[in-house]
Amino acid sequence: KDLIVSFGEMLIDFVPTVSGVSLAEAPGFIKAPGGAPANVAIAVARLGGRAAFVGKLGDDEFGRMLAGILRDNGVDDGGVSFDTGARTALAFVTLRADGEREFMFYRNPSADMLLTEGELNLDVIKRAAVFHYGSISLITEPCRSAHLKAMEVARQAGALLSYDPNLRLPLWPSAEEAREQILSIWDEADIIKVSDVELEFLTGQESVEDDVVLTLWRPAFKLLVVTLGEKGCKYYTKDFRGSLDGYAVDTVDTTGAGDAFVGAMLTKIVDDQSVLQDEGKLREVLKFANACGAITTTEKGAIPALPSEPAAVKLLKRN
Ligand code: ATP
Repeated sequence: KDLIVSFGEMLIDFVPTVSGVSLAEAPGFIKAPGGAPANVAIAVARLGGRAAFVGKLGDDEFGRMLAGILRDNGVDDGGVSFDTGARTALAFVTLRADGEREFMFYRNPSADMLLTEGELNLDVIKRAAVFHYGSISLITEPCRSAHLKAMEVARQAGALLSYDPNLRLPLWPSAEEAREQILSIWDEADIIKVSDVELEFLTGQESVEDDVVLTLWRPAFKLLVVTLGEKGCKYYTKDFRGSLDGYAVDTVDTTGAGDAFVGAMLTKIVDDQSVLQDEGKLREVLKFANACGAITTTEKGAIPALPSEPAAVKLLKRN
């Protein structure tokens, strides 16, 4: 078994044609396909791994375009369903000149939120060696129940469960609800990746010190990773822990860096699960993941910027 199945949302980000403007000031927008779980699936495929995506799109021009993007990138889209009543999710996103991100979501509700348990392609999920998911699919029913069912099916079929909460606070009714729901499936995972910002949100402490991170550790975990943007990452297993520096690159847009990191890490873990018990091997895997994250920041958008294996190896050799 070597299939990585990614579950959750795929949508279109509309980003301004010029940088540093507010949504209201933007003269125009371009389409940037995204959604963290879909990005992870494409990251895996671009690195030569086997990937499938499970989720729901609108039966509309944008939904069919996104499914085409999965296929064109070598991702199995057999787990994608289409909703005839609801549209593909859209998000207008900008990074203003003052450094603040502005979001406007069109999800009222969007097709991804309407995925039901009955629509899950269980055959795809049962073939997973790794089943990966985020937390946006937990926000509303019926998708929440579909998410929980998919986790259960994947687990029973022997998959490793991989969780990147990918906090999008504006989508939740409140911060408390976000924290509670994100943590409600915390203990189920084998592998968790959080960013430093998410760590702060979940622990309520402005620190990435080990004692703070370890409050999120659970005995059944196989790997907990905290990503630190340009500073790299920290890793925790039952037997060892440590950190790795990031790679200095000319950063243009960090969108998708975390997804590239996860895709790279999972691709290597599926290849050889013994990396989870061997610190030397795990460090090589996480260096590779850091390089993949770094490369993704050197181009605008997530999907166009996701690296191939040779591009990542080149950056590793340069350092
Ligand atoms: P995002 O939400 O932007 O996709 P994230 O917040 O989940 O990302 P980050 O910690 O920003 O995750 O990035 C993931 C990894 O990508 C980092 O651990 C690092 O290896 C790499 N990375 C991110 N930003 C940079 C950067 N500016 N320069 C070099 N590497 C970076």
